[in-house]
Amino acid sequence: MATSSEIIEITEKYGAHNYHPLPVVISRAEGVWVWDVEGRKYLDFLSAYSAVNQGHRHPRIVKALVEQADRLTLTSRAFHNDQLGPFLAKLCALFDMQMALPMNTGAEAVETAIKAARKWGYSVKGVAADRARIVCCEGNFHGRTTTIVGFSSEAQYREGFGPFAPGFDLIPYGDADALEAAIGPDTVGFLFEPIQGEAGVVVPPEGYLARARELCSRHRVLMMADEIQTGLGRCGRMYCCQHEDVVPDVLILGKAISGGMLPVSAVVSSREILGVFSPGDHGSTFGGNPLGAAVACAALDVITDEKLCARAAELGAYFEAELASLGGKVELVRGRGLLLAAVLRESAGAARAYCEQLKAEGLLCKETHDRIIRFAPPLVIDKPTLDWAFERIAKVLG
Ligand SMILES: *Cc1c(COP(=O)(O)O)cnc(C)c1O
Repeated sequence: MATSSEIIEITEKYGAHNYHPLPVVISRAEGVWVWDVEGRKYLDFLSAYSAVNQGHRHPRIVKALVEQADRLTLTSRAFHNDQLGPFLAKLCALFDMQMALPMNTGAEAVETAIKAARKWGYSVKGVAADRARIVCCEGNFHGRTTTIVGFSSEAQYREGFGPFAPGFDLIPYGDADALEAAIGPDTVGFLFEPIQGEAGVVVPPEGYLARARELCSRHRVLMMADEIQTGLGRCGRMYCCQHEDVVPDVLILGKAISGGMLPVSAVVSSREILGVFSPGDHGSTFGGNPLGAAVACAALDVITDEKLCARAAELGAYFEAELASLGGKVELVRGRGLLLAAVLRESAGAARAYCEQLKAEGLLCKETHDRIIRFAPPLVIDKPTLDWAFERIAKVLG
C-alpha cells in the first residue's frame, strides 16, 4: 500500500493546485475521528467546513444511502422520483417555509437564489428589465462560480477570472446603516452570511440581523441568508438567524444537509418567491436526485432526533469559555455554538505553523486567512473529547 507521502506526490503531480491541504492523507473515518493511511488517529476539528455536523459516516445516513443506492439513484427531473417530494416537504416543515428548490453544491444554491431574486424583482416588484441589483457584504464567501467571485472582496478570488457579472453592490459587513444607504429602487435582494465563516468566523454586532430584516421588509428587498455553513445546528440553532428571531425571505442551505455523504443543497423560501420559476427557467441534472434526497432526509432527521442544535449551543458555550481562558498566542476567541475561531496575536506569526503542530498532536484544524484558526468539530462530539482537544490546543497556543 502507498504511503502518505507517495499519495501526496501523485495528488500534487496530477491534480491542479487549487488547494493547499495539510500534509495528512485520510483513508477512514468514524464519528469525530479520522485515520490516515499509516493508521494514525486524529480528531476532526473542521468537519469538512461544517458538512459533517452529524459526524462521519453516521450509521442512519449510511443506511439511507446504501438502501437508496440499491433501489434508484438518478432519474433526472425529466421524470418524477419517489424521494424528492418527501424531502422538499421535510425541508419546508423544518424551516416553516412553503417551497424548496434542490441543487447540488452550495454555490449552485446561491446562484439559484440570485436568479430567484432577479426574476422576483422583474415579475413581482416591477423593476425594469436588466436593472436588478443585489447588495452583498465585504468579506463574503458564497462559492466559486464566476458570478459569485465577481462580488467577492478577496482579491485572489477575482484576479485573473474576469469579466464578471454586473448588478452587485458591496457594503461593509455588520453595518446596517450602510445597507440602508445601498438600497435603491432597483435593489431586489440582500445576500449575506449571518456569521462570515470563511472570513474568519466574523460575528456581526448584536441587532444587525433584526435591523437588516426591518430594512429589507420596509424597502421590499429579499433578505437572503446564506446558511450553508452556519445552518443545520452548527451555531446552536437550526439556522443562525434564529438567534435574533429573524426569518429571512430566502434560506440557502448546503453542506450538512447531506451529512457529508453527497453534494446536496437547497433554496427554501415562499411560494411568492420560488413560484417565479417556470419549467425550463432553471435546473440541474443531478439536482433533486433520489439518492441525495433520501440521504438528506436521514441527515435532517439526525439533526432533529439527536438534538444537535441544543448540543452545539451547550458544548459551544462550554468550549468558547475554555478557549477564552487560553491567553498565550490567542488574542481573541469568537463565534457561536460550535463555529468558533481563535484570532492569533500579530507576534505569534502565521496560523499555518500552529495547524501543523496541532496535527502532530492529533488534532486536525485549518487556518483561515493568516492569523485565524477555525474550531468546528462535528456536533456529535462530547465533553471529554472537547477537553482532550483543549489540552492539545492549550499546549500549542497557550
Ligand atoms: C461552503 C460555502 C459555500 C459554497 O458551497 P460549495 O458546496 O463549496 O459550493 C457558500 N456559502 C457559504 C457560506 C459556504 O460556507
